[in-house]
Amino acid sequence: MTASDFPISSGWCRKCQTQHQLGPEAAITSARELMAELANTQRIDYLTGNSTADPQFSTAYLESEALGQMFGVLAGEDAQGRIVVLRAFSCQYNAHWQVEGWAPPLFDVAEYERIMVPGDRRIKALGRDIEDGRGDVIRLKQERRLLSRSLMKQLHDLYEVVGFSGETRPLASFFEHTNGIPTGAGDCCAPKLLNQAIRQNLRPLGLAEFYWGRTNRSGTRQQGHFYGSCADKCQPMLGFMLCGAAHE
Ligand SMILES: [Zn+2]
Ligand SMILES: [Zn+2]
Repeated sequence: MTASDFPISSGWCRKCQTQHQLGPEAAITSARELMAELANTQRIDYLTGNSTADPQFSTAYLESEALGQMFGVLAGEDAQGRIVVLRAFSCQYNAHWQVEGWAPPLFDVAEYERIMVPGDRRIKALGRDIEDGRGDVIRLKQERRLLSRSLMKQLHDLYEVVGFSGETRPLASFFEHTNGIPTGAGDCCAPKLLNQAIRQNLRPLGLAEFYWGRTNRSGTRQQGHFYGSCADKCQPMLGFMLCGAAHE
């Protein structure tokens, strides 16, 4: 595989009416280093300076029923011309949104939990009532559906999608012409890495995403392989995020 065969992160920009993209080449070496770190340390909390490994952050999790997941690296340049490498895991790692040394999500985690925890509790309680046949099951199911829809809406409203242009847009604005916001939109490595690069004023040089852990059920994801940005969740917002990045 030559460098030019690596998949590119890209997306359509409505403003410029063109495709903006970020190649992986400048991030491949760092991505391979991250793979080696994962293989050698068998944990993802090795960046904390804490020598004691927390079992929650062991890479054994990626070999479990939970299966592997995507990891990503962004190489950027700061105002002083220094190279900065950012790392991300997709979605949550073993139910954690934030792990020291890794790109944070696109929302405030405390706010997210404040909405998610009680909402999830109510949905689960309704689920138990439905299972036990307590009350009008059709009405309960409808209540649960409405509740979970409103919970998702509140959570999605917390996402702030920023661009190198300095603009910010709500997550929902990227999916107006599709059948709602796809599950996990905004939680992939590419948006997390670009979000952090923008907030740290880095000029992006390269972005690479790879899979690590047990092969997924359909066999389309294999450990150590590089993959491009996903079409349904990421590409609709990557054009906006990359717009204005100086690498173009
Ligand atoms: Zn994605
Ligand atoms: Zn643009």
